[in-house]
Amino acid sequence: MAKSIEKILIVGGGYAGFYTAWKLEKKLRRGEAEVTLVDPHGYMTYQPFLPEVTAGSIEARHVMVSLRRHLRRTTIIAGHTTSIDHAHRTATVRTNDGALREIGYDTIVVTAGAVTRTFPVPGIEQEAIGLKHVEEAVAIRDQLLTAFDRAALLPPGVERRRLLTVTVVGGGFTGVEVFGELLSLATSLLRSYPELDLDDLSFHLVDANDRILPEVTDEPGRWVVDHLKRRGGNIHLGTQVVSAADGRIMLSTGESYGNGLLIWAAGNGSNPVVARNTDLPVDERGLVRVRADLRVSSDPSTDEATVPHAWAAGDNAAVPDLASPVPGARTVPNAQHAVRQGKLLAANLVADLRGRKVRPYIHHSLGVVATLGIGRGIFQYRRLVIKGFLAWLMHRGYHVLAVPTWERKIRVLLVWVSALFFGRDIIPLATVQRPRAAFLAGGDPFAGPDGAKPELSVVRDAS
Ligand SMILES: Cc1cc2nc3c(=O)[nH]c(=O)nc-3n(C[C@H](O)[C@H](O)[C@H](O)COP(=O)(O)OP(=O)(O)OC[C@H]3O[C@@H](n4cnc5c(N)ncnc54)[C@H](O)[C@@H]3O)c2cc1C
Repeated sequence: MAKSIEKILIVGGGYAGFYTAWKLEKKLRRGEAEVTLVDPHGYMTYQPFLPEVTAGSIEARHVMVSLRRHLRRTTIIAGHTTSIDHAHRTATVRTNDGALREIGYDTIVVTAGAVTRTFPVPGIEQEAIGLKHVEEAVAIRDQLLTAFDRAALLPPGVERRRLLTVTVVGGGFTGVEVFGELLSLATSLLRSYPELDLDDLSFHLVDANDRILPEVTDEPGRWVVDHLKRRGGNIHLGTQVVSAADGRIMLSTGESYGNGLLIWAAGNGSNPVVARNTDLPVDERGLVRVRADLRVSSDPSTDEATVPHAWAAGDNAAVPDLASPVPGARTVPNAQHAVRQGKLLAANLVADLRGRKVRPYIHHSLGVVATLGIGRGIFQYRRLVIKGFLAWLMHRGYHVLAVPTWERKIRVLLVWVSALFFGRDIIPLATVQRPRAAFLAGGDPFAGPDGAKPELSVVRDAS
C-alpha cells in the first residue's frame, strides 16, 4: 500500500513558524509531506524593527515578510486558530472571511507567539497602544506627528504640553527602544516646528522594577537610565501606572500629569488560545511544555510523556535552556531563540518522519543590542559593553543581516541610505483611517467621516 502523505499544520507564521515552514520547504522531498500554515496576517513581522517604524526610520511595509511570496510550497490560510484538539488531530480556524473551518492534520507545530501583557489599570483599554504589530507602530508614529501639528496651533500652556507628553510603560527592550526612538524623533521634529521648543516635550518611562533592561547587567542598565535622562527623559523606576483614564496618568508615587500618547510595553503574556484552548500540556505561565528537541511533552524529563506528532517553539513554548548553568531554566522569549528553534524544529520533524535521531536545542546567547534613537545604542556580550554610536551601528548591522530575505534587507538598507541624504520622513498618514472623508467633503480630509462639516467657532488672531 502506498504511504500516505503526512499533513503538517503550523499555527502562527511569525519568527518560529515562518522559519519552520521555510526550512521544511527546503528539507522535505516531493510527496513526503504537505505543509499548511495558519496566520491571520499574510506576513511575518520583524518585530525588532518596530521601534524604528514608530520613528520613521524604516518603512512599515519593509518589516513585513510576505508569507505567500517566500513560502511557495506551503498552503497559507488567512485565519486565527481558535482551538486545537490534538486527540482528534483537528484545529478549528476562524478564517478572515468570518467562517469557522475544521482542519485535520497528522502533525501539529504550535508557534503562535505571545501577546502584550496587560493589567487591569483604568484607562488603558481606551488609551494605550501596544507594540507587537506593525499597525501599532504606524499608529504611534501618526499620533505623535499629528500631536505636533495640533500643538503648534496652541499657545504655550497645559494643553500644548499634554499633547506632547508621551508615556511608555515597561523598561524592557521594547519599552526602552521605543522611548529612545520617539525621543529622538520628537527632538528632531522641533526643527520643523519653530512654534514649539524643547520645554514643550515631556517623555516618561515607567517601570515597576527598580532598574531597566533586565537582559543587561547593572552598570550598562544605569548608563542607559542616565543617558535617557540627559536627553530630557523622565525615568520612573519602582513605579506603577495606577490610572490612565481621561488623558491623565496617575503614578503609584502620587505624581499625576496630562498625557497625550500612552505606549504599553509591559512584557509578554501567554497566547490565550495556546494557554486555554488546546489539549496540549501547558505550564503555569500558559506556555506549551516541550522537550529540548522541541517535541511537546507533559513531562520533558521522561520519554514516555512525549505527545506524539506535536511540536512547539518560540515565545509560546517553555523550551529547556541547555546553555544555562541554572537547572530548570527556560529559553527567554526573543528572536534569537525563535529563529533557531524554528530551523531546528523543521530539521527534527523531518528526521523524525524518516525514522532518524532528533537533536536537542542548545544556543549560547550572542549578546544583546538595542537602539536608543538615531546614532545611539547599547550592546553587551558577557562583560563586553559598547555604548553610543558604535553600538547603534552594530544594532543596524545585526538586524539588517537578520531580517529574512535579501529583498527585505535591500529595501530597509535603501531607506536608511536615503535618510542619510534627506533625513527621515515626517509625513503622518493618520487620515488613512478615514479614507472617504476628503472624497465626501469636497477635499477636506478633517471633516467628519460622513463628510459633514462640524459647526466651529472662530478663534481670532490676537495680533
Ligand atoms: C518591539 C519589539 C522588539 C524586539 N526586539 C528584539 C530584538 O532586538 N532581539 C530579539 O532577539 N528579540 C526581539 N524581540 C522579540 C522577538 O520579536 C520575539 O521573541 C519573536 O517574535 C518571537 O517569535 P514567535 O514566532 O514565537 O512569535 P511571533 O513572531 O510573535 O509570531 C507569532 C505569530 O503567530 C500568529 N498567531 C498568533 N495567534 C494565532 C492564532 N491563534 N492562530 C494563528 N496564528 C496566530 C501571529 O499573527 C504571529 O504572526 C522584540 C519584540 C518586540 C515586540
